[in-house]
Amino acid sequence: MNRDVGKFGINDKRGRVQTSNDPYANQQTYAEGAFCSGCHAQYRNKRWYLDEEAFAQAQQQDNAPLVLCPACLKMRDGYYEGVVVLQGDYLWQHEEEICRLLKNEEARARAKNPLERMLCLEKRGETLVVETTEEKLAEHLGRALHSAHQGELLVQRGEDNRICRVSWQR
Ligand SMILES: [Zn+2]
Repeated sequence: MNRDVGKFGINDKRGRVQTSNDPYANQQTYAEGAFCSGCHAQYRNKRWYLDEEAFAQAQQQDNAPLVLCPACLKMRDGYYEGVVVLQGDYLWQHEEEICRLLKNEEARARAKNPLERMLCLEKRGETLVVETTEEKLAEHLGRALHSAHQGELLVQRGEDNRICRVSWQR
């Protein structure tokens, strides 16, 4: 990963203990045209776009500010807004297929909005757990899984609407 930090970025010091300051609160201060050094998304008109070509050009000209986008900040900090927990015999019998579906759905969501990402997709005990940067993506993954493989789906919003918990089993 490119660890250059632009003037609007937050120092990317691995292993440093996070303070209680919300590292995502400065989203609105991104400079127009800035690129994320982590995922190469570009900030334009108050939103992020994936544009590798524009990133490559800017690298050559060496003139675009480099920052970390909110999704890369969340990935760095392990901060999630959505969690999907999968379980059941059927899951493990179709593990590869299901993981592929989840990754494909993430890629599609990310193409539309680079801030929608999976932080992890991993086995934890008897469950498969996905954490997402945006609550919307967790719900989307749950619904995509349910429509492709049926099973039981439960989508729960936290009281403050910040975290979306999705469980699926079959
Ligand atoms: Zn990024």
